[in-house]
This record gives sequence, C-alpha cells and structure tokens, in this order.
Amino acid sequence: MDTVRNVVIVGSGCAGHTAALYTARANLTPLVLEGHEPGGQLSLTTLVENFPGFPEGIHGPELIANMRRQAERFGAEYKLAQVTAADLGSAPFTLRVGGESVRTRTLIIASGASARWLGLPSEQALIGHGVSSCATCDGFFFSGRKIVVIGGGDSAMEEALFLTRFATQVTIIHRREQFRASKIMLERAQKHQKIDFVTNAVVEDVYDVSKKEVTGLKLRDVRNGKSWDIAASAMFLGIGHIPNTKIFEGQLEMDQDGYLKTSSYVFTQVPGVYACGDVQDRRYRQAITAAGSGCMAALEVEKYLEQVGL
Ligand code: NAP
Repeated sequence: MDTVRNVVIVGSGCAGHTAALYTARANLTPLVLEGHEPGGQLSLTTLVENFPGFPEGIHGPELIANMRRQAERFGAEYKLAQVTAADLGSAPFTLRVGGESVRTRTLIIASGASARWLGLPSEQALIGHGVSSCATCDGFFFSGRKIVVIGGGDSAMEEALFLTRFATQVTIIHRREQFRASKIMLERAQKHQKIDFVTNAVVEDVYDVSKKEVTGLKLRDVRNGKSWDIAASAMFLGIGHIPNTKIFEGQLEMDQDGYLKTSSYVFTQVPGVYACGDVQDRRYRQAITAAGSGCMAALEVEKYLEQVGL
C-alpha cells in the first residue's frame, strides 16, 4: 500500500503491451495487470496476416507473447490479476486487485472489448477452428468455402460483405425479422449476389467438435421451433462486443454502450488517466490501431509525469 507506482496498465492485449513497452523504455517501470483474458482478442485468433512486419504472418498468441517479452526486456512487470474496483477520485489513483490495493500516479486503461459469443459449448470448443469473431483476421482461411455470419447489426453486415471476397456463399443468420443494421449496410448486403439471409433463426449447435472443424450448424426457427441443419465451413459472430469498463462506471464518461469516451485519441476526463485500444475504439478495432493508441497513451503518461514534476 505504501508504494506509489508511476504507471499501471490495465489489460494485456496489443494496446496494453505497447503502452508497457514505451513506458518501460522511459524507465517508468510499468505494472501491467493482465486481466481476465490475458493477451486480449489476439490470443484467440490464429494467423495474423495484417500486422506489418511479418510478411508470412504470425500467430496471434505468438505475436502477443513477443510483445510481452519485448516490454519485459525493458523492465515492465506483469501480474496475472484482475482489477475489481478503482478509485479515480484523486491522485494517486487506487485500484483494488485481488485482496490488495495498488496506488499509481497515472493509469492506462487498455482493458479491451470482448466479443460477444452465443455461449454454446460447441461454439466455444471450435473457436480458432472455424468459429471466429473477426472476419478481417480469419476470413482468408475460408477461401472457396461456404461461411455463415451470425447477427443483424452493422458488424454482421460488414463482416458478411468482407467475407464475400473469400467465400463462395455467405449466409447471414439473424434471430429476428427486423435488422438493427443501418439501411445502407443492410441494402448493400441484400444486393450482394453471394449473400443470402436466414431470419427468425437461432443457432442450436455447431458441428463438428469431434473433427475439430466446422462442418455445419443446427438451426431452429424461433416461430415454430423446427430445427434443421445447414452445411458451412466457418461461423463468424457479428453480435457485438462488450467493452470491459464496468469497474469505471460512474468515474469515467462512457457512451451508451459502455465504451470510454476519449478526446485527442487517448485522454479521459481525469488528468493522468488514459484509455487506448478497443476499450475506447469501436470503429477500427485492429491490432495495429490498438498498438498505436497504446503508444500514444504511454507518451502522454511521460508528458504528464514530467509536467506534474514526478
Ligand atoms: P449491434 O448493433 O448491437 O447488433 C448486434 C446484433 O447481434 C443484433 O442484430 C442482435 O440481435 C444480434 N445479437 C446480439 N446478441 C445475440 C445473440 N445472443 N444471439 C443472436 N443474435 C444476437 O452490434 P454491432 O453490429 O457490433 O454494432 C455496434 C455499433 O457499431 C453500432 O452502433 C453499429 O452501427 C456500429 N458499427 C458500424 C459499422 C459501420 O458503420 N461500418 C460497422 C460495425 C459496427 P437483435 O437485433 O435481435 O438484438
């Protein structure tokens, strides 16, 4: 309780590791609290082919492990722990971590957003084996195959449109008749010759866990309860993300869906508290943009500590 850290970073995805690397190289000895999904969303993907510097691609978990090693080399400390409460009322800020309190002069929130999943055991077992929440990351692996996309919002439309580059056919499965997606995105999807729709249907099961690959889905019509099977090689979830901001409720401004509001990219309303990556970015949500904003947050921490003379 006596020590006050220079900087604590909450979250260990791309944004958190990059913030750790930069603040470590500035001799600030950052403490990274890894959170409930260490490594963030990248640790759930397979081959990452759009992170510059890896012409052959790199596996998500390996990329994340490299980032961590790089930050540790310069003195970043990591703790596998989750923040359960935060007091940002006055500096130094206090975080409740397990049974302990951690005090810090600055805070970088990089706690990310978690993809929303259906929650079916078969879906969970096949993540990374044909079940994905990121078309940009994994679409390429299903070239020439039939793909399904779940959801009725803009994310689902966007994913489906993107996946038409690879798939022979993309089927959007939505649980209602009405769509949440914007008119323009919905129309674009409806007009696309490779996209078809199944409405009023929910996924009951994903085949085939025993083969460790997706071969099809069992669907149920919500109006009459009838079930049927369809063939597919991949299932992409486009049912939204949930930003991991619960512990900051009432202390930091958020939009209606819980994303942290920032100005000049990474500034929250509390001086000394910065947010980066998916926790404040619902638009780009890429590994490289998260890393970039992690760097920005770290540079702002350095400036802030200089200004306040710490
Ligand atoms: P969203 O608008 O909340 O849509 C989520 C969709 O998933 C809804 O259709 C919802 O169905 C469905 N859904 C949620 N939980 C489900 C479940 N358990 N089982 C089956 N279906 C489920 O989320 P989003 O599409 O990610 O968009 C979030 C925000 O980002 C929106 O403001 C959107 O406009 C924006 N966005 C914009 C763009 C763009 O402009 N290019 C791209 C992506 C996202 P119900 O409709 O029945 O609730």
